[in-house]
Amino acid sequence: MPLANDPTTAIRDLTTAIEAELIAVRRDIHAHPELAFEEVRTAGVVARELEKLGIPHRTGIAKTGVVGLIVGGRPGPVLAIRADMDALPIHEQTGLPWASRIDGLMHACGHDLHTTTLLGVAAVLNKLAPQMAGTIKLVFQPAEEAIGGMRIMLEEGLLENPKVDLALGFHNGPDIPAGRFGFTHGPVLAAADKFEVVVHGVSGHAAHPHTSIDPIVGAAHIITQLQTVVSREVNPMHPVVVTVGAIHGGEAVNIIPDTVVFRGTVRSLHAPARDIAEAAIRRLCEGALATLRVRCEVDYTRGVPALVNDDRVLLPAVAAVRSQLGEVIDEAGPVMGAEDLALLFERVPGFQLRIGSGAPGRADKLHNSGYAPDEACIGLGVQALSRAALELLS
Ligand SMILES: [Zn+2]
Ligand SMILES: [Zn+2]
Repeated sequence: MPLANDPTTAIRDLTTAIEAELIAVRRDIHAHPELAFEEVRTAGVVARELEKLGIPHRTGIAKTGVVGLIVGGRPGPVLAIRADMDALPIHEQTGLPWASRIDGLMHACGHDLHTTTLLGVAAVLNKLAPQMAGTIKLVFQPAEEAIGGMRIMLEEGLLENPKVDLALGFHNGPDIPAGRFGFTHGPVLAAADKFEVVVHGVSGHAAHPHTSIDPIVGAAHIITQLQTVVSREVNPMHPVVVTVGAIHGGEAVNIIPDTVVFRGTVRSLHAPARDIAEAAIRRLCEGALATLRVRCEVDYTRGVPALVNDDRVLLPAVAAVRSQLGEVIDEAGPVMGAEDLALLFERVPGFQLRIGSGAPGRADKLHNSGYAPDEACIGLGVQALSRAALELLS
């Protein structure tokens, strides 16, 4: 097939030619889901497909990650495009012929779509490489759901040889119909921290509370006070969530226990709000020694930072999607989920494209046992990302 001169037609034709094959690859990956750092078979499929395309690649990065390189015909920047490969511990209920063949595991977050879409982008850009400036680094990442794969890939030198200048990520979204796309300026996903608080009192008989220090009443007060962190301490224009998701203490109705333990998560989109929330949680817990006589040990652990889109990547990428597919992309607000792509975007300017995957007449959601995306999102995602890559490198 001769390549069309204009990029719109060339990318569309190249994608159409491989779309059926991509759907077959996706169904194969979907039927064989693997958990974080166990993506051995999936990484094998990726390596086999890159091999077929003649794209040089390295395997075994962060255990099961794969990184491929497409070098353009002219010098230019290095663009990393990242897909995640891991599945979830969910038992699939779709009943589809290509449903998971492994009990208790399912690609319910659509990372099978992501892996396949990036393979499609690899095939298209590999064909366009002679006319392309710069280099594409194809990043097939393990363990996104465990929020661990990207950190290890970075530690193992993902950004070097060649040095990455900018990055593209993407996630499917069944809340958006297939054929449409979404973008968010600035912070789009939250920083995710966790904390554990041990509230120390003094145990004793429930009938003689004056001889004890009650950690249950102490914990109850502290947990209620933590709700003032969001409402009274952080800027109302900076969203924060403080949720206590677990509390344990006491065994019997007639005993005041020695300790109570509670655990929670803090989500935030802006660094100052994150700092304020952590400081306020520590202060309210530690201050309970003066007010309630309970001594608190606070273990606060910072997780991934917020995922922040950079307009230097976002604006040309959004324009590229419009050039390729028309008026199909809308601005959307951020959400308080988290994703370790944020660690990559912390180091190089990046943009995460949302790819609509909702099928007509369905109301699917991610991490749901019945998730059945519209597979048209694969070819459309390939076109959108391939065009965005070309524009970003030109
Ligand atoms: Zn997920
Ligand atoms: Zn996901």
